[in-house]
Amino acid sequence: MRDRIPAATAGGRQLQFLPLRFERWDDGRVLLTNMVGEHLFVDGPEFEALSQRRLTDPALIRRLRAKHLVRLPGEQLPVDLLAVKYRTQHQRLADSTSLHLFVVTLRCEHSCAYCQVSRRNLAHTGFDMTPETARAAVSMAFRSPSPRLKFEFQGGEPLLNMPAVRLVVEEAERINGTEGRRLAFVIASNLALLDDEVLAFAQRHDVSFSTSLDGPEDLHNRNRPRPGRDSRQRTLTAVAHIREQLGHDRVSALMTTTAGSLGRVREIIDSYLENGFRHIFLRPVSPYGFARRLSRRRAYDVDAWADFYTEGMEYILELNARGVPVVETYSAIVLKKMLTNDSPGYVDLTSPAGIGIGALVYNYDGAVYASDEGRMLAESGDFTFRLGQLGQDSYADLMTSAALLDPLEESYTGSVPMCCDCAFERYCGADPVFHHTTAGDPVGRKPESAFCRRNKAVFRFLLDRYTSDPHARELFRAWAAR
Ligand code: SF4
Repeated sequence: MRDRIPAATAGGRQLQFLPLRFERWDDGRVLLTNMVGEHLFVDGPEFEALSQRRLTDPALIRRLRAKHLVRLPGEQLPVDLLAVKYRTQHQRLADSTSLHLFVVTLRCEHSCAYCQVSRRNLAHTGFDMTPETARAAVSMAFRSPSPRLKFEFQGGEPLLNMPAVRLVVEEAERINGTEGRRLAFVIASNLALLDDEVLAFAQRHDVSFSTSLDGPEDLHNRNRPRPGRDSRQRTLTAVAHIREQLGHDRVSALMTTTAGSLGRVREIIDSYLENGFRHIFLRPVSPYGFARRLSRRRAYDVDAWADFYTEGMEYILELNARGVPVVETYSAIVLKKMLTNDSPGYVDLTSPAGIGIGALVYNYDGAVYASDEGRMLAESGDFTFRLGQLGQDSYADLMTSAALLDPLEESYTGSVPMCCDCAFERYCGADPVFHHTTAGDPVGRKPESAFCRRNKAVFRFLLDRYTSDPHARELFRAWAAR
């Protein structure tokens, strides 16, 4: 940074630019962000003065210096502070890999149209994880240097292979007797098959649950068909049992936005509140697995999702203003990145990407993937993100494989066209699997990328409300600090 371009001469003092990016707003303001994502809005004339290096307004110079966008020549403190913050934001890189996903079966008794996996019917055999594979996967998870290990069970429906879930939990606890890591266990399940035995096991081993709730009864059951057409009722009955026996916070819910959800965001949020959930993730459908084959009637574009998200967020702000606390999970993750130096470690919003270094996926057949989405691609014949095989490859083999390192390097937002100049780069992520799926390479073309457009809509909404609405500002700060 020593030989930065002079920004201006003001009051006899030379100012130098520090790395900054900008984005124009419709109302004439310009967003400036520094290299750690701290932001400042300036008006049109102020931006002209900055870009033409004619800074004369002492108040503007003070604001620019306070956000480490310019500095006095030789001034070291802003550079040191930026370096400390940048290092803090990347701290998780030394901590890899904390999330370990176990696909214990591909079988499921639901047949959700948007299902992200290529699920199999109950009667199909050969799609369950064997005890040998489960043991090898646990052993691989402990090769990671991370002091925290989260074991998440997925499917299919993981409750259909409880012997594998049990084995993984007990084996992890046994190994941890000498390892001393911080362990967490989560079963991602539709809960339709939850019984007393599973609950007792979860209680003994401190296992939590994550389930699906798409909103009102008609919408949920249409999205998530199962024999008896009673998916929602079964899920909510199981949620009540979990809360009763394990505690209220031992179960969380996720929703998926389908074409049928559009225009119904208020009802969806109300249904979360009615059922005791204070967190909702207004999640778009993903372009993987079965979901990739969604019919035209069921598909929707980014603008339709952005309207859905915006209406939902307006309602959430309104509810909070009325004293009803409710958090939109994705916004809370983004706000943590915008307003603090903490890295929430959310795999889709990190750069370098979170594949492999944030999460590893052990498939029922012993194949190891860089992400759950990479595993879903493999189910449809694309093995790009397959890192290796349990029993054949070591942890070092997986983590240094070209299937991991190439997409990590190629998709790094600090060097990708458009991202490297984008004012939102520090809030965003790389997501090479999404771009490989939709554009055929790990980078994609950002003007056509649904990932990019969707994130920009979220970043713009949050910054707009943060700067224009004192109540939203206070609420967003509280979400970021959680
Ligand atoms: S994906 Fe889009 S919003 Fe994200 S950093 Fe790249 S250009 Fe910016």
